[in-house]
Amino acid sequence: MENGLTHTRHPGPDRCVFAVDGHAGTATVTRLAATPGVIDVLTAPGDQWLSARRVRPRTTRVDVGFGVEVGGDAFVVAAGPCAVESQAVLNDITSVVALGGASILRGGAFKPRSHPASFQGLGAEGLALLARQREITAIPVVTEVLDPRHVAAVAESADILQIGARNMHNFELLKEAGRSGRPVLLKRGLAATVDEWFGAAEYVLRTGNPHVILCERGIRTFEPATRFTLDLGAVAVAKRRGHLPVLVDPSHATGRRELVRPLALAAAAAGADGLLLDVHTAPETARCDGAQALTATDFDRLMADLRPLLRALGRPLA
Ligand code: PEP
Repeated sequence: MENGLTHTRHPGPDRCVFAVDGHAGTATVTRLAATPGVIDVLTAPGDQWLSARRVRPRTTRVDVGFGVEVGGDAFVVAAGPCAVESQAVLNDITSVVALGGASILRGGAFKPRSHPASFQGLGAEGLALLARQREITAIPVVTEVLDPRHVAAVAESADILQIGARNMHNFELLKEAGRSGRPVLLKRGLAATVDEWFGAAEYVLRTGNPHVILCERGIRTFEPATRFTLDLGAVAVAKRRGHLPVLVDPSHATGRRELVRPLALAAAAAGADGLLLDVHTAPETARCDGAQALTATDFDRLMADLRPLLRALGRPLA
């Protein structure tokens, strides 16, 4: 392109977007706008982002495999243990969540723990257990990737790569995850603004991978009554500002199982495209975050309350 401008091409379902880097003067912008086939040239800050709803007016539908789509008409529930602990426990939890209405299995193999003495996850063994579960039950799996060197292995065992809150600003990891081509579930950083969250999404999108799902999981505020403060305002903002689907994780936001149900329902009402939930069949023995895990009974109760709410909202459950 002229004047040292560079561009990348991003085809989509209804239009192709060109992201242009460098400074384009008024004459260049006018010439581009007059080019046959060009619908619009966006130059205002924020509007030229690949995630912007102005760029793609329709919500992106992310196909996560096994016939499950995030961002479509249907509301999606991803549920499972915070950390994969053993084949037997994972079997039990998968049965509970799959029979209860979840369409995606979550489970951490690599865990980002605040203290090095805490359980760090089963690593590669955990990935193998998740892959087995996915094979047996034909349910897509989401799991976190912590290290760019693990992206290929995680992409082989899972259908969705989760970038955790602590790694939202890890740009090399974002780029490597993007390059895998797998859908990326991008959690909002503990202290990230919506703008920074979208900036992180842009790193993935710029690799040419359009399959990005945002996830609000609470931010650090002055309020200690919950572990983090679930920011449902950010969900409404993200849905207006961008075209990417948005999930909500009330488990990590609150840190307390008794608060998960009301906030999960509120998230659906606020326009989220789905939920990410910790569920454990024996939370008292969980090796990670047991206090926030729903029991099987809690999960069934939440799903029973969610169904009429979704009907009222005109959204089927995936
Ligand atoms: C998780 O979902 O397992 C997790 C650690 O979440 P977060 O990155 O939001 O803390």
